[in-house]
Amino acid sequence: MNPELTLMAVHAHPDDEVLGTGGVFARYAEEGVRTVLVTCTNGEQGDGPGGVKPGESGHDLAEVSRLRLEELRESVTHLAIDHVELLGYPDSGMAGWEANADARVFANVPLEESAGRLAELMERYRPQVVVTYDENGNYGHPDHIQAHRIAVAAAERTGIPRKFYYSAVPRSFLTEMMDHLRGTGVDMGEFEVPEDFGTPDEEITTVVEVSAYFERKIKALKAHASQADTGFTLGLPDEVQRRMLGRETFLRRFSTVPAPDLEDDLFVGLR
Ligand SMILES: [Zn+2]
Repeated sequence: MNPELTLMAVHAHPDDEVLGTGGVFARYAEEGVRTVLVTCTNGEQGDGPGGVKPGESGHDLAEVSRLRLEELRESVTHLAIDHVELLGYPDSGMAGWEANADARVFANVPLEESAGRLAELMERYRPQVVVTYDENGNYGHPDHIQAHRIAVAAAERTGIPRKFYYSAVPRSFLTEMMDHLRGTGVDMGEFEVPEDFGTPDEEITTVVEVSAYFERKIKALKAHASQADTGFTLGLPDEVQRRMLGRETFLRRFSTVPAPDLEDDLFVGLR
């Protein structure tokens, strides 16, 4: 249908592809757009089987990596992702973790090298639309910040993407979800949405309706069963899950084609 169109999302870990971009992957694949997922790390600083955390006994980096990449292979089948490119860097762990000091982890690899590899992938696939995280990696994780950096650098170096996006959750939506959760009786304790969490609503440019792909996103999430975050999302009341997963929101960083300030489709101006 659109054999000339390609969507590329640049993510940090196996599982990051689902929540913010699983719907656009599934939707655009169905419209005939070629879809490419770049996953930068092997996710070895994630949870091990049984919820064991890095540094705890029984957490084996190689085994966690193997398991998470296997989970990723299943997830992408549910989201109809055509091409998965693994950069294969070791996971840097959350800010402050021991792994941060390792020169081999993704966040410490010279940008020249990692961005160069991503630039080669952009040359190969020639995506008109590229999606990644904002400058803060959306929540401060060193690998998410680095994924942002290499995506920006590779886009600048190649000049290939016509439209470039940050996955972004509007702040009002987070507040609404918290209120909704409290209203449905979920015990949130004293938790409040931090001031700097999410993206100010007025900065959101793009809201894509993906509720038709809810079941597929859930299957993709379930594929990442080893991760505690996945369990948290899947444990939320059904209607909360539907609201969380039913639309995907973005901040358009740039577009070299005419596109309205507010759009409901990443490919507006390219069809
Ligand atoms: Zn991640």
